[in-house]
Amino acid sequence: MDKATVLTDHEPENPLKAADRDIVALGIAAAAIILLVGTGGSVLPKVMDAMFGNGPRPDIVLINALLLNIALIIFGWRRYRELTREIAERRRAEERAHQLAATDPLTHCLNRRSMLTATEEVRARAAARGEAVAYCMIDLDNFKQINDIHGHPAGDAVLVMLCNRLRALLPREARLARLGGDEFAFVMPFPAGHAERVDDLVIRMFENLAQPFRLPEVTVELTLSIGLAADHDPDGTIGLVVDAGTLMQQSDMALYHAKKQGRNRYFWFEPSMESELRFRNQLETGIRRGLARGEFVPYYEQQIDLDSGALVGFEMLARWRSPQLGVISPDTFVPIAEEIGLINELSERLMEQAFADAKEWDDSLTLSINISPVQLRDPWFAQRLLKKLVAAGFPPQRLEIEITESCLHENIGLVRSMIMSLRNQGVQVSLDDFGTGYSSIEQLRNLPFDRLKIDRSFVSELREPGGRSRIVEAIVSLGRGLDLPLTVEGVEDEQILKALKSMGRLKAQGYFYGLPEDADAVRTRLKAAGRLTGIMAPAQTATDHDLTFYRATRP
Ligand code: C2E
Ligand code: CA
Ligand code: CA
Repeated sequence: MDKATVLTDHEPENPLKAADRDIVALGIAAAAIILLVGTGGSVLPKVMDAMFGNGPRPDIVLINALLLNIALIIFGWRRYRELTREIAERRRAEERAHQLAATDPLTHCLNRRSMLTATEEVRARAAARGEAVAYCMIDLDNFKQINDIHGHPAGDAVLVMLCNRLRALLPREARLARLGGDEFAFVMPFPAGHAERVDDLVIRMFENLAQPFRLPEVTVELTLSIGLAADHDPDGTIGLVVDAGTLMQQSDMALYHAKKQGRNRYFWFEPSMESELRFRNQLETGIRRGLARGEFVPYYEQQIDLDSGALVGFEMLARWRSPQLGVISPDTFVPIAEEIGLINELSERLMEQAFADAKEWDDSLTLSINISPVQLRDPWFAQRLLKKLVAAGFPPQRLEIEITESCLHENIGLVRSMIMSLRNQGVQVSLDDFGTGYSSIEQLRNLPFDRLKIDRSFVSELREPGGRSRIVEAIVSLGRGLDLPLTVEGVEDEQILKALKSMGRLKAQGYFYGLPEDADAVRTRLKAAGRLTGIMAPAQTATDHDLTFYRATRP
């Protein structure tokens, strides 16, 4: 008998002892049966005769031996029954433990651990039929928000509903797994050379999951990103990857690509994604190292009052002076810093430098700083910023923070209270890139912004013949209606400037006035204008006439 199956729950601490005892019990029962056959054959008839008065009483020792025999057989039988019951229970427990270890307790899908084996199995079966296999990674784009806003029980309910919808769509042979919080995967066979069948299924999935998830209390909507990899090339001729692990990695890379491309979409793995990811990992390492070595520096872009032509402040724009890669734009490193959780540290370092720089400037000059939506998720953001201001001795009235519309998708209550506490201390708050996101008029009315910034993508339309942009005009009149001052980005030439001037009081910034410059260049510029603290101006504040004074060389 298999030793494992003989183990009992009574003596789990010493399985060998238990096995010994069972063997002894079995030996005794077997010996008893042999004895019964041996002695019972002669003793039983004598006992029967004596009972019916037909013969002498048999020897009492023999009778006792017979009774002992019978008792031992009953003992052996009962032990055997116990054993079979114990084995059955143990098997059930083992099965249950195995199932628990292999599935996700919430959704009852497979889990990350068991998905690898499941994928190998699906691949083996598909290969035997000459079919291909697709592995699909699914990541929910906005699940964290659902959890944060509606609570974890609602989040859990959404995940269960989502799994049920996925199961209903998947073919019978597919296996579905929950790999982590809001990450799922499935593996399915498909006829080699017909990857469009997988595309069809994935498109149906997007359509289905775009339908709202109705919970008793709330209705939530989800979007998802998907990465796919197949073990055959598109025309189905060559088996491409050799193991499930590679298939999983490739679909992960495709998923990463889908997220980078703006989420809510899917991609099949392509080899170029591997080098893209390698480059991204290099950037990540570079950013970590660069932060420690002080390679991130603030640059400053001038902000001009359109009416008077006077310089009124600067917007701080981060730059990474990488020794290997040169000067890198924030569009490249800010999203990575956000992703790897370094944006707070990076931003705070830049702020410290910027406060120190701006303290040397004339008191009338403001400093604008861009704040990422990720930073606003920290409920202590406002307090930390104010603490930094106090530590730097920088007047809050000179600081303006710029937040983008995407911040308004996050916890709006939190954003609102943050804006309020910053404004209470005198910090101004503007809504950046207005019109490129989804803020509603309602939000504009309810959130106490000090200013709107019109994105340069709209402003560039003013260069078209006629110098008009309906969007810019609409935003300008909206700002006027809501009594919100406006800053216009992307003033690149005189034609744009002229068109803007006819639109009323505006602040403007753009390459027409100069490219963003580092702290030293700004100091030199301000020194010449007599606008460094304690330095006398060579002339009065700049006017429209001496605008060229501020103009830097065009690129
Ligand atoms: P943004 O806030 O919309 O900043 C304006 C961007 O437009 C800057 O790009 C600026 O250099 C560029 N720009 C200014 N004038 C002109 C112009 O006349 N023509 C053209 N074509 N471009 C112009 P930059 O510096 O590459 O910054 C890109 C974005 O990165 C910024 O967009 C801002 O959202 C973000 N960013 C910059 N610094 C930081 C930072 O410290 N923290 C965070 N979270 N984001 C930052
Ligand atoms: Ca900005
Ligand atoms: Ca912008």
